[in-house]
Amino acid sequence: MHNTHRTKVLIIGSGPAGYTAAIYAARANLEPILVQGLEPGGQLTITTDVENYPGFSDVIQGPWLMDQMREQAEKVGTKLVSDLIQSVDFSKRPFNCIADSGDLFIGETIIICTGAQAKWLGISTEKKYMGFGVSACATCDGFFYKDKNVAVIGGGNTAVEEALYLTNHAKKVTLIHRRNSLKAEKILQDRLFANNKIEIVWNHILEEIKGKKQPKSVNSILIKSTETGKIQDLNIEGVFIAIGHRPNTDIFRGHLEMDDEGYILTSPDSTATSVPGIFAAGDVQDKIYRQAVTAAGTGCMSALEAEKFYSG
Ligand code: FAD
Ligand code: NAP
Repeated sequence: MHNTHRTKVLIIGSGPAGYTAAIYAARANLEPILVQGLEPGGQLTITTDVENYPGFSDVIQGPWLMDQMREQAEKVGTKLVSDLIQSVDFSKRPFNCIADSGDLFIGETIIICTGAQAKWLGISTEKKYMGFGVSACATCDGFFYKDKNVAVIGGGNTAVEEALYLTNHAKKVTLIHRRNSLKAEKILQDRLFANNKIEIVWNHILEEIKGKKQPKSVNSILIKSTETGKIQDLNIEGVFIAIGHRPNTDIFRGHLEMDDEGYILTSPDSTATSVPGIFAAGDVQDKIYRQAVTAAGTGCMSALEAEKFYSG
């Protein structure tokens, strides 16, 4: 039998944005229901050390941080549901969402916090060393590669920005791109070419990442020429995959306004979407900062705005 869940605020997603929205909504007596999705805790559960979330002078673990956020959200009165929203009807209020279980969730307001995911190359060793030498976030993990040789894969704005950022920490940054020209904006390319810590390897793809078991870490990569097929072994300790991100917004297509890449559009200085009563927070609407603290910040904003909308 399928259940119907009614709430003043339905929160979709359990990353930093979702849990923060839940904490604020619960403390405003909105009795939120939060649907966790397939990755309870969100992206930080697939990383290890987190050193830039304020409030902790020692390094903390991503999964631990997300457990703390979940407990805090529950403690102040959030109802957590382990399910996945599959389809939505935003044509009238209250809004309807149907989950994988068949349950119906009815929200007077909705906060979408379904996040985004980095695109990965799909090679097996990439997964094996994820969080142990392989990353998709230089701002998050660059610090761990002080005075080391690192590589960035990709040729768009993200890859160039990641490479430039990494020069603050690394000894040398090798940008590996599959073609012989970059997709990135000219101004970023100029900065890249002018930086003497950066070497560019054109027309190559990442073939394999090699490392050791104890301590689990990367010590070299194999790259293959797209022209000759020749393989080179580079001495690299950190690999940053920067081939783009994909927001988790497929189920909202046609229901909300989005940009060309599928990020949900929100009003300036607000989390309001194109449908009044529906708000979006975190990486699902932010392709610039993509940090836990910014996701939490917009999660807070979304709950305050949902409360104002509901009581106004
Ligand atoms: P996410 O964390 O992406 O969470 C999305 C949530 O939505 C998940 O719980 C998922 O299950 C749920 N969901 C998706 N679709 C549905 C659906 N249909 N129904 C219900 N639920 C759904 N940031 C930092 O600040 N510091 C770091 O050190 C750091 N390290 C990182 C390391 C890695 C490897 C990665 C990948 C990211 C890292 N980040 C870091 C970035 C940070 O994790 C993200 O910016 C942040 O998690 C975004 O939070 P969010 O709440 O928007 O979404
Ligand atoms: P992107 O523009 O799509 O570039 C992805 C890059 O990765 C491309 O160079 C692509 O190669 C390469 N790539 C894709 N798949 C690959 C694979 N399987 N193997 C090897 N290389 C692969 O993505 P992005 O750089 O993340 O940017 C996304 C959007 O955000 C863009 O609109 C960008 O302008 C924007 N953005 C803006 C800023 C800024 O304004 N400062 C910063 C970051 C991002 P090809 O070139 O061969 O296709």
